[in-house]
Amino acid sequence: MGKEKLGSGRFQKDEMLEVEITDIGNDGEGIGKVDGYALFIKDAVIGDRVRAKIMKSKKNYAYAHLEEVLEPSPFRQQARCPIARQCGGCQIQNMTYERQLKFKQDKVRNNIVRIGGFDGEYVDSIMEPIMGMDDPWRYRNKAQYPIGADREGNPVAGFYAGRTHSIIPVSDCRIGVVENEMILEIVLEHMRQFHVSAYNEGTGHGLVRHVLIRKGFESGQIMVCLVINYGKRNPNSGRDFGKGREYIPGQERLIEKLEKVPGMTSISVSINNENTNVIMGTEIHTLWGEPVIRDTLNGLEFEISPLSFYQVNPAQTKKLYGQAIKYADLSGKETVWDLYCGIGTITLSMAKTAGHVYGVEIIPEAIEDAKENAKRNGIENATFMCGKAEVVLPEFYEKAAGGDASDKDALHPDVIVVDPPRKGCDSKCLETMLKMQPERIVYVSCDSATLARDLRILCDGGYKLKAVRPCDMFPWSGHVESCVRLERVSNRKADSYVKLNVKMEEYYRIKDAEGGEADG
Ligand code: SAH
Repeated sequence: MGKEKLGSGRFQKDEMLEVEITDIGNDGEGIGKVDGYALFIKDAVIGDRVRAKIMKSKKNYAYAHLEEVLEPSPFRQQARCPIARQCGGCQIQNMTYERQLKFKQDKVRNNIVRIGGFDGEYVDSIMEPIMGMDDPWRYRNKAQYPIGADREGNPVAGFYAGRTHSIIPVSDCRIGVVENEMILEIVLEHMRQFHVSAYNEGTGHGLVRHVLIRKGFESGQIMVCLVINYGKRNPNSGRDFGKGREYIPGQERLIEKLEKVPGMTSISVSINNENTNVIMGTEIHTLWGEPVIRDTLNGLEFEISPLSFYQVNPAQTKKLYGQAIKYADLSGKETVWDLYCGIGTITLSMAKTAGHVYGVEIIPEAIEDAKENAKRNGIENATFMCGKAEVVLPEFYEKAAGGDASDKDALHPDVIVVDPPRKGCDSKCLETMLKMQPERIVYVSCDSATLARDLRILCDGGYKLKAVRPCDMFPWSGHVESCVRLERVSNRKADSYVKLNVKMEEYYRIKDAEGGEADG
């Protein structure tokens, strides 16, 4: 056990230890303690007894590699996917789904208590049980497979090994739809037959970079988009075969095979000649069928292009939005702001039972989609604005407060919904929300640490935390979404909140310096 090293507070690299896994870290990794030192061990499951090798040792904790499971936990299960450990996609396929849901529920609860500073008993009394999936497999409606070549030069499709750029071949990802495998087989077989090259990140040569597949779960419509490197370096460049441009050698044959896949309605290419990590290029050419697929969500119809943002787990999205709608408590007359609205899915879901809805989103294309989606669904009581929430909202507020706005109701809305990215809401945005004094705030979050920080700020500004409901959007990963309801209890403005925010930033600095494990 290397006892002599323990006194110094450090382990030596490659040192072997036996340890009982007693906790779960932020990303789902196992945590074991040896004489008070925490060991973070990826792929170890709470309840396991394991042998682990020290990889990196710090003052108070160390990272170790799982060498052997000595006694398996009752929560350990065989991962369904043969490459679950190497692939960066799933982190906890070897933990039973039930235990995983408990882990996620606890993670949200503990972050709200520890980071947000809320009373544990109170939080327990208002937390609703996590919404899990009945069948947590094959839930993703979108897949992006990188294409590369193996040592013999044969084309392969698969996934990047965690944080690297080498492709592990796999055509049937268990969280994706079954059609993915069929489509990838057709593409790879075609590449072999017509000697189509795979893109090589190192040299920048080669044609096929990625295959994007999307499926509308309600409509059954399927889209395939091949992302290709079609620059001057490519010998196929500029070849024109009568009917249309031939982007891929033997293109007509490829289309013939792909269009037979049940549900196929759209085949396209996206040109990406840049040497970058960004998957999609902005130029898209439809080769066959429609440029978009259609799908319905909460009774609304959406058109989805290869570039559109659309939630990837439709079954859980329906539950999450349903919860947000419940927490918003609309009767038909209310004024609602939906900040970080994307293509307007929440905004439009609420429009049916609200007086007027306002959506704010930073990406211009998403706002265009949102406006189109409103039109397509005959919704006339929705206004969309493009820009940063922390800029659009204060500007609107200043203007309206100065008597300059046509819609006074929007100044003091009944409900504000926010669904920010992982970094949470900007302080300027929170400050303006507090000034607008909505009766209710519904906070949809994909990161419970920043959620907890923002809840503290909002509650210090006159709101009360009324209900929290986690939702498992990404089974087998460490991520968890939450939906929170806040109610206004006083007119108190957030006097202390700027100071508080500084404290939180300090917290994040410490967290970064420690390697992101502070809230484990
Ligand atoms: N509510 C939507 C999208 C949520 S994802 C849905 O459920 O589909 C978060 C969205 O916030 C993204 O669309 C992102 O583009 C947008 N975003 C990121 N930073 C923003 C900011 N500062 N202001 C407004 N929108 C922002």
